[in-house]
Amino acid sequence: MLLERAYAKINLTLDVLRRRPDGYHEVDMVMQSIDLSDLVWLDCRSDSEIVLDLNAGHIPSDERNLAVQAAMLFRKYTGIRAGVQINLEKNIPVAAGLAGGSSDAAAVLRGLNRLFDTGLTSDELADMGAEIGSDVPFCIYGGTAIARGRGEVLERIAHPCHLYVLLIYPRVFVSTADIYQALQPTDFVTAVQSERMVQALMEQDVDAVPYLVHNVMQHVTFAAYPGVKQLADKVESVTRHPVHMSGSGPTLFCLAPTVQQANRMYNALRGVMRDVHLSHFVSNISNSGDGEV
Ligand code: ATP
Repeated sequence: MLLERAYAKINLTLDVLRRRPDGYHEVDMVMQSIDLSDLVWLDCRSDSEIVLDLNAGHIPSDERNLAVQAAMLFRKYTGIRAGVQINLEKNIPVAAGLAGGSSDAAAVLRGLNRLFDTGLTSDELADMGAEIGSDVPFCIYGGTAIARGRGEVLERIAHPCHLYVLLIYPRVFVSTADIYQALQPTDFVTAVQSERMVQALMEQDVDAVPYLVHNVMQHVTFAAYPGVKQLADKVESVTRHPVHMSGSGPTLFCLAPTVQQANRMYNALRGVMRDVHLSHFVSNISNSGDGEV
C-alpha cells in the first residue's frame, strides 16, 4: 500500500478571456498549491475491481468520483488489469473552489504510476489527467503555475515567495457551472493579471502579492450568494486585510507574510466565526508520496 497526498490549490489570479465554441471558457490564472491535503492510499486487489472507500458519505464512491475515473483511465491507458483499492481521507472541503476532486484524481494517477512501476512522466500523467478535468494537469505537478487554455495549458513557475493562507469556508453550495454561466461579456478581459502576480512572486514581494490577487468570478459569486459577500466583509473588518475568493468559490482567503501575522489574524477570526483554517504555500509536491506503508 502506498500513500499520495492530494494538495488543494488556491487561485492567486483568475481571468476569463472568452467563451469557446466547445462550451469551455478560455482562462488565464495563477494557481498555487497549499498545505491542505486529502490522503490517498492505493493498493492492488486480488480481484479486478476498482474499489473506493472514503470518509465522506455525501460524495459518490462509484464512477462519478474523480478518483475512480482516474484509476479507470490509468488502466485503460496502460493496459493494466489488476484490481485497485483506493482509500480516500477527505480533508479538503468539497465543491469549495479548492480543486479537491481534481487533486484526488491527480494523486491516483501519480500513485498508480508508482504502484505499478509504469514509468510514465509527469507530462504523460498530466495529458491523461486533462481527460478527467481541466484542473487535473496542474494537480499532477502542484507548486505554482500559470494555467491557460481551459486550465490545462501550464507554465510552471519556480519562485521564492512563501505566504501563509487563512482559509474561511462559507457554508454555502456554489455551482461552478452557474457562476461561469453568469459571466457577462464585460467580464472577459484582454489584459490579464497573471504576469504582474508572477513578477511579485519572483521578486519575493510578500507585501505586494496580497494586493495583486484578482478573481473575475468573485463579484459574480458575491452577487449570486449575498451571504458569501457578507462573510467576506466581516473577515475584512476583523483582519483589516484584503479578502479573496478561490476559483468560483465559495472559499475565501487572506494572505499573510509572516506566521506571527497569520496567527494574529487566525485568532481574531476564530473569535467571531467557525470554519477558519490556517495553511501555507507549498512549492514542491514531488516528495508528496510518503512511500510504502
Ligand atoms: P474546482 O475548484 O476544480 O472547481 P471544487 O473544489 O470546487 O473544484 P470538488 O471538491 O472537486 O470541487 O467537487 C465538485 C463535485 O465533484 C462535487 O459535487 C462532488 O460530488 C464531485 N466529486 C467527484 N469526485 C470527488 C472527489 N474525489 N472529491 C470531492 N468531490 C468529488
